[in-house]
Order: sequence, then C-alpha cells, then structure tokens
Amino acid sequence: MNNELTVTFAANVATTVKAITTAALPRETGGLLVGWWDLGTVFIKDAVEVVDPEATSVGWSRHQETAQRILDQTLEQIAHPWLGYVGDWHSHPKPCPPSDTDLRTLAQSSLQFTNPLILLVHAPPDTFEVRAAHTGQSCSPYVQYRTLQIMAD
Ligand SMILES: [Zn+2]
Repeated sequence: MNNELTVTFAANVATTVKAITTAALPRETGGLLVGWWDLGTVFIKDAVEVVDPEATSVGWSRHQETAQRILDQTLEQIAHPWLGYVGDWHSHPKPCPPSDTDLRTLAQSSLQFTNPLILLVHAPPDTFEVRAAHTGQSCSPYVQYRTLQIMAD
C-alpha cells in the first residue's frame, strides 16, 4: 500500500483547523478527522476539536471518552452512512514537524483499524503535514485538497 495512498481534504478542513488552532493559542489543541475511505483514497470531510483542559504550548492529549462523545455527536449531526473516524489532527504552535512520538502513536493506533489511519499536524500559520499508517507501518501519502461532495442517498 505504500505510496499508493491518496489523502483528499475537503477545502474547508484547512480553514477549520486554522480557526480552532488560532483560538487555542498559545496552547496546542487537536481533535478528530471525519471522512470515508474508497479505493486507496481517504477523503477527509471535516475536522473537529477534542478539548484538552490540560493542554500546554507543547502538549495536547486526546482523551478517549471525550473523543468518543464528540465523534458520536458529530456523526449524528452529519448523518451520513459513509462518514466515520479516519484519523486525528493536532497543532504545533512552536513550528515543528510531526514528532517521533506522534509517528509512533499513529503507527500503534493504526493496528486497530483495517484501513489506513491519518495524522494531520498543523503548525501556524500555514504548514499542514500529513502522515498515514496502515497495520503499524508508516507511509507518506499523496495529499490533495478539493471541494468534496458526498452524494445524497
Ligand atoms: Zn505533535
């Protein structure tokens, strides 16, 4: 699967992540990526925040119970059968690429899923780094941004 994975972001995702990140500065924040998989492509429709009340400028933790509650609420609001959890995102207010810990966590978490898991790291103002892992193996996906339409069913 390496080098064959494409990650397609809806154009609004970068704007949403920037707005959430800016509101949280100088602390890190992060959350979940919601989308769907189809034929070697992960489509990312939206990003939501999972607030960590103990976040610092160099650390944000994804609290599992809060994350699950926010995911359930989000999916209920969107109400589309294709959509589900496809990965995580967080910000690095002190600009730096995804850390070794970020990548290890991503690889480890990907063992729980059949499909590739995505990590988006946003360093303000305009850096977006995307990584993926599948069954414990990291890979660098091809990334694109466009307007995503989901057909009504
Ligand atoms: Zn990080």
